[in-house]
Amino acid sequence: MGSTSDVYASLKEMFESSGSKAQVIFPGDGEVYEQSIKRWSEHCEKRASCVVKVTTPDDVTTTVKFICEHKIPFVVKGGGHSTSGSASIEDGLVIDLGLMRKVTVDEQERTINVEGGAIWEDVDVEAAKFGLATVGGTVNHTGVGGLTLGGGYGFLTGKYGLTIDNLLSCNIILASGSQVVASSTENTDLFWALRGAGQNFGVVTSFTFRAFPQPNPVYAGPLIFTPDKLPQIVAYANKFHTQTDGNQALLWGFSAPPPANTPVVLTALFHNGSEEEGKEFFADLIALGPVANMAAPIPYEKLNSLMNPSVGFDGRKMFSGGAFKLPLDPGFVQNLYQEFVDFVLGKNRMNESMMLFETIPYKEVVKVGNGEMAFANRGDYYNLATLFKWFDPTLDTEVRDFARTLLKKASQSAGVVQDVDIRSVRGVGQYGNYSNTDVPASEIYGSNAKKLEELKKKWDPENLFDRGTRLVPRQVVVVN
Ligand SMILES: Cc1cc2nc3c(=O)[nH]c(=O)nc-3n(C[C@H](O)[C@H](O)[C@H](O)COP(=O)(O)OP(=O)(O)OC[C@H]3O[C@@H](n4cnc5c(N)ncnc54)[C@H](O)[C@@H]3O)c2cc1C
Repeated sequence: MGSTSDVYASLKEMFESSGSKAQVIFPGDGEVYEQSIKRWSEHCEKRASCVVKVTTPDDVTTTVKFICEHKIPFVVKGGGHSTSGSASIEDGLVIDLGLMRKVTVDEQERTINVEGGAIWEDVDVEAAKFGLATVGGTVNHTGVGGLTLGGGYGFLTGKYGLTIDNLLSCNIILASGSQVVASSTENTDLFWALRGAGQNFGVVTSFTFRAFPQPNPVYAGPLIFTPDKLPQIVAYANKFHTQTDGNQALLWGFSAPPPANTPVVLTALFHNGSEEEGKEFFADLIALGPVANMAAPIPYEKLNSLMNPSVGFDGRKMFSGGAFKLPLDPGFVQNLYQEFVDFVLGKNRMNESMMLFETIPYKEVVKVGNGEMAFANRGDYYNLATLFKWFDPTLDTEVRDFARTLLKKASQSAGVVQDVDIRSVRGVGQYGNYSNTDVPASEIYGSNAKKLEELKKKWDPENLFDRGTRLVPRQVVVVN
């Protein structure tokens, strides 16, 4: 075989001669190529040598075997939303699942089969045609693949647990190229690993989820407050924590969004029921006098689109996570607010950034033990997230360092820090899907990290899938 580009060209020829509909895209393909390397965060856009848009499990098998034969560095791309960079690559190949988005609902069995490159909107819309839903993410353009394989929190988590708690089986292409099923009855150890650390074990070409009857409409939407209301909102969150029956969720935090670009306290509320019930449940929050109240009855399939405007596709972005426990002290949160606002409204102007206290009830989540799947973030605490958005690449390190320091402080002072209190409530206090790939596996998987290392030896002995959390050290490979 000749040059590197000859190697990639031979893959294209292989697909063409087999009659496959897979698309093989190169840097010379102009706008088609530029679109193919787009990611939710510009920070994660890398100039791949080749993008393969697969259309079937067989296309994935062909590509994986080709990658192994030629020792090609590669990544797998689902919805393209991770900000860790694990779905993009410079000088390597992307297996892009974006043409595999079919969703099939089995109304009788109440299951939803979803191809590996679908986004949550595909699932929400198709399931709603049958009056059903499953636990998806709160932003409907995120990928089903990455979100599910890392755990998955959504508005229905309070009622039904995590996305992985409702995952019944996966069809997966392994490093050998073989296609296997993982479920509670087939390849059970692989199924254990896929639920929390799935990115490290293969390419999932379809997921089957349990579905639930979902009445319409639900009551949901954002309420925006001036910052002087922060102490009362913290007090409300403390009360929410004791009063919710799992049918509600409350996301709240800080930002300074356009057009005003001045600090506000954002809240997004959700009640899985009527407007009347929702208004009654959230009456004390509504009574605090928001400057804007957009909560209203909405069809369930539109619920996960409500936050889309605040998390659009432009700019460099970074998601990072920590944990907080309720009740919180309003003075403590006020200090976090000040630190956050000083940073985002300081010299660098990152006013579209957000710090979010995700008060999604965890009663159902903690019904499953941390050893029952690879996922190890189950405890009596909530996820805390920062989402920074900026445009100047020279600020990348400054943003990352600030996010880390702020989240560490926020998580520690809330009484849930790794290796200390968090062990007593069982979870690690770190949601893998909000982490970077340089975070040690033990911080995301706790004592499950050891078992994952063993399972890697069994299911991916050459560590082909090495771009997610480092379960074992990454190898250096050269194309030949
Ligand atoms: C705006 C926004 C909102 C979010 N909201 C939520 C939320 O409500 N709840 C929540 O839990 N998380 C949320 N997240 C975090 C989200 O779970 C992660 O960003 C997740 O990685 C997104 O998955 P993806 O498929 O879009 O990403 P990608 O970047 O495509 O993939 C992420 C990782 O998964 C791998 N991967 C993807 N699909 C497959 C597959 N089929 N087979 C094998 N590997 C695969 C990729 O190789 C990569 O390592 C949010 C993120 C963003 C940016």
